[in-house]
Amino acid sequence: MKKSGSKQQIKILNLLEKEDLGLTISQIAKKIKLNRNSTAKYLEGMAEKGLIYKIEKGPTSKLFYPARKSKAFEDRNIYSVTFYQFLHSVLFKKYFNDQKIAREIGLEMAKNGAAQLYSKQFNSMELSFENITQLAALAVEITYPIANVKAEVKLDPLSNDSFFLEIQNCICDGNKEFKSICEIQAGLLKGVIDEFISPLHVQVEEIECKCDNFPSCKYRIAKSMSKG
Ligand SMILES: [Zn+2]
Repeated sequence: MKKSGSKQQIKILNLLEKEDLGLTISQIAKKIKLNRNSTAKYLEGMAEKGLIYKIEKGPTSKLFYPARKSKAFEDRNIYSVTFYQFLHSVLFKKYFNDQKIAREIGLEMAKNGAAQLYSKQFNSMELSFENITQLAALAVEITYPIANVKAEVKLDPLSNDSFFLEIQNCICDGNKEFKSICEIQAGLLKGVIDEFISPLHVQVEEIECKCDNFPSCKYRIAKSMSKG
């Protein structure tokens, strides 16, 4: 990188050091008075060299931190996974081998407040199956208890009435013993979406799971004409 480049790098490093919560590309661009594209290029280059730390939260949203944060961040995520698995085992051990009951728990969670929790985020929106497709990934990222979770919506090439939701860094963490976590998640997704698009319903099915050696947990969410 040229001299002006290293000057920008130093500016960026100083900026990030002052911000504990991380900064987006746009925020950094504004502060160093550079256009967004050039700023993004600097940031990507610096992250690649390990000078700064990048967290991707969804396809268009990235946050940048000073490099020293990365270890604390990863450590905390590992700790959170262990903690939630522990909590899960204390609360739900009885249901570990019954995925149907795990799903019921998720549905109950939706009825008992989780749907309202989500709707607070989207209270000004008229919700339909179509825009649920847009919001599902965001909703999962906001409410998932692990900071590095990444949720992504993928359209179903075969049908307009279904889509896929892929969750990276799911708390099941590929441990078969905790697959009931994914089933609770499936029930929760169904319960929340059903409330939002009522009287329509969806069917939610986990089609790939980290517990079965897939790279991430993936759900198929399909509009359902029948009740339930
Ligand atoms: Zn899973």
